[in-house]
Amino acid sequence: MQGQMMDYPLTLPHILERSEKLFSKVEVVSRMPDKSLHRYTYGDFAKRAKKLANALVRLGLREGERVGTLMWNHYAHLEAYFGIPITGGVLHTLNLRLHPSDLAYIINHAGDRFIIIDDVLLPLWEKVAPLVEVEKVIVVPLTGKPVPDGFIDYEQLIAPEPEDFTPPAIGENQALGMCYTSGTTGKPKGVVYSHRAIILHSLVSAMPDALNLSQNDIMVPVVPMFHVNAWGLPFTATMTGTKQVFPGPHLDPVSLLDLYEQEKVTVSAGVPTIWLGILEALEKNPGRWKLTPGLRMVVGGSAAPEALIRAFDRHNLRILHAWGMTETTPLGTASYLKSYMLEWPEDEQYRYRAKQGLPVPLFEIRGWNEAGEIPWDGKTMGELQVRGPWVAASYYDLPEGRDKWTEDGWFKTGDVVTIDPEGYMEIVDRTKDLVKSGGEWISSVQLENALMGHPAVKEAAVIAVPHPKWGERPLAAVVLREGASVTPEELKEYLAPKFAKWWIPEAIVFVEAIPRTSAGKFLKAKLREQFKDWKWEA
Ligand code: AMP
Repeated sequence: MQGQMMDYPLTLPHILERSEKLFSKVEVVSRMPDKSLHRYTYGDFAKRAKKLANALVRLGLREGERVGTLMWNHYAHLEAYFGIPITGGVLHTLNLRLHPSDLAYIINHAGDRFIIIDDVLLPLWEKVAPLVEVEKVIVVPLTGKPVPDGFIDYEQLIAPEPEDFTPPAIGENQALGMCYTSGTTGKPKGVVYSHRAIILHSLVSAMPDALNLSQNDIMVPVVPMFHVNAWGLPFTATMTGTKQVFPGPHLDPVSLLDLYEQEKVTVSAGVPTIWLGILEALEKNPGRWKLTPGLRMVVGGSAAPEALIRAFDRHNLRILHAWGMTETTPLGTASYLKSYMLEWPEDEQYRYRAKQGLPVPLFEIRGWNEAGEIPWDGKTMGELQVRGPWVAASYYDLPEGRDKWTEDGWFKTGDVVTIDPEGYMEIVDRTKDLVKSGGEWISSVQLENALMGHPAVKEAAVIAVPHPKWGERPLAAVVLREGASVTPEELKEYLAPKFAKWWIPEAIVFVEAIPRTSAGKFLKAKLREQFKDWKWEA
C-alpha cells in the first residue's frame, strides 16, 4: 500500500515565504565595514531577496546557472542566499581567503555567469578578473562610495524591481548552491547542494540535540558564509525565524564580544581559533562584557580542545562541539551528553563533550580499516565513512574523484576515528595530507611541489604541527642538494608570490633525510611524531 500524502517539494522558496509571513518583524543586523550597524527586518529582507531574484532574471539568469558571491557575512549576502536559488539559479559562495589563481580556477570551473561582490573586496577582484570569464559583476556598495565604472551597482540594480517574485517550479533535487573544497592534490572540488539537502539539513540542524536553534535565539555566524554556507546557519535561522546578527568583516575577539553584548546574542558559531581569541579577551578584561548567561558557542571545523570547553564553562558560556565537512552540508555529528551521563563524574562528561559526538538523525557513520568495519569499542581506529540525504554523491564535473566513495555508496571522509559503545565518534588522525590553520585548509602537497622547484632543494615534506592559536601550522622539513645552501627566509620569499600569505610554512627546518615507507613514500606520521613538541616562536 502506498502512503497517501502530498508530493510537496522540499525547496527554498517555502522557507523565504514562511519567514516573511510569520517573522516579518524579527531583525537582521549587520556590522558594516565602518563598524556601524545596519538593521532591518525579515520583512525587508524577503522583499529585497525577491527584488534581487527579479533583477537576476531580468539580466538573463537561467535555471541552473551559477552566480558567485565574494562577500563577508552581512544582510546582502543573506539576500543572495535566497534571491539566487529561488530563481532556480545556483548560489556559489567563493572563499575570499584563497589565492587569486585558485579563486579564478574555481570561478571558471563552476562556470559562474555573474558575480556579486562587496565593494571592499574589489582590490582582490582586480587580481582575479584578468583570469576569468564572468559576464557581469554586481558590486554591493557597503561603504556607500560610488561603484566604479564597468560594474553594476547592487542597490541600483534591485531598486526598480517589484517586491513580489513567483518562483518557477523547482524540483527538490535541483541544485541550490555549490561550494568548493580544497583537495590534497589536484584542484579544488565542487560540492553541489540540492534544495532537498538544504531543507532536510536545516530541519535537523535546528533540533535540540543538534544546534538547537529556535525563534527565541539571537544568532551570530562567525563562520564565514563562504564556508559550507556558514554551516547552513543562515538557512536554518531563516527557517526558524531566529534573529540573525552578522559580524561583517570584523572578526577580532573584542568586536565580536561587543556585538554579543549589544545584541544580547544567545548562540554563535565558529572555528576553535575564534573561541581561543575570545577566551583570551574575556580573561584579560574580567567583567567588561555582560553576555547572555549560557550563551552557546558551536565549535567545529577543527577539534575543540577539552581545556577550551572547561574554560568556557567557567565563564558560564557553553561550547557545543560539532563535526562536519563541505561534502556533508556540513552537519554530521554533535557532542551533547545523554541524560544519564549527567550523573557521571565531571571528568568523564568533559571527555565526552570533547569528542566529535553522535550522528544526527538521517546521518549514518561507520569506521573502516583493513580488517573491515571497526567495532564500536572506542579503541579500534578506522577511516570515517558516512551517508545520508545531505552527503555529496559526487563532485561537480570531476569524474575522477570517484575514489572518495565506497562501492556500497558511503563517502570516505579522510578522518580517522574511533566510535565508542555509546555511539560517540572521536577523530584521532586524518589520512588527508592537509594542514588546517584557523579553519582554512593548506595543501601540504602543493607547498612541497613548489619547494622542490627551488634549485637548492632536493626534497621537502610539509606537515601539520599543533599550534596554540591556529590549531595547526605548516612546517616544512627540507633536504638540501649537495653543496647547495639557502636560508629559510629565502625559501619563504621564493614561495610568497605563489601562495596566499597564510599558506607559507611557519617554520622551515633543514634535515638530513625525510623518513620513508618501504615503498619509498614520505612517512609523514613519523615526521609528525618527530615535530609534535615543536616550539613556535611567539
Ligand atoms: P571542510 O570541508 O573544510 O569543512 O573540512 C572538513 C574537515 O574538517 C573534516 O573532515 C575534519 O578533518 C575537519 N573537522 C571538521 N570539524 C571537526 C571537528 N569538530 N574536530 C576535528 N576536525 C574537524
